[in-house]
Amino acid sequence: MRVKANVILAKCRTERQLYGMRIEERNGDWIRTWAFPIKEELAVQEGFDKVNINGSFHAAEDYPGCPYCGTQNFFVCGTCGKLNCYNGERVTTCKWCGKSAETYTADTLSVTGGGY
Ligand SMILES: [Zn+2]
Ligand SMILES: [Zn+2]
Repeated sequence: MRVKANVILAKCRTERQLYGMRIEERNGDWIRTWAFPIKEELAVQEGFDKVNINGSFHAAEDYPGCPYCGTQNFFVCGTCGKLNCYNGERVTTCKWCGKSAETYTADTLSVTGGGY
């Protein structure tokens, strides 16, 4: 059986660096299985900035966390809709658009990567 997999982009909250999270479809949901640093040019080239997927995006048991700071979590910016890594802060600042917002959790997310 072919594994359905994709990559969504996020920025680290500490280093402001871009990374890709590999996501894989399991039982009709999408979970995160891997994370790796990526260059913006390459992400655009690969089309990772065009991805739009719905799912819970829970972390797999062996998900390594953010490649820069190691956190397992991420949040979706309420202003620009992009992903940042997240470690339980109550108020966060989006590394893409610079807006601060209170965070909230959701079971299902619709994510869109990229856009520079
Ligand atoms: Zn990070
Ligand atoms: Zn934002």
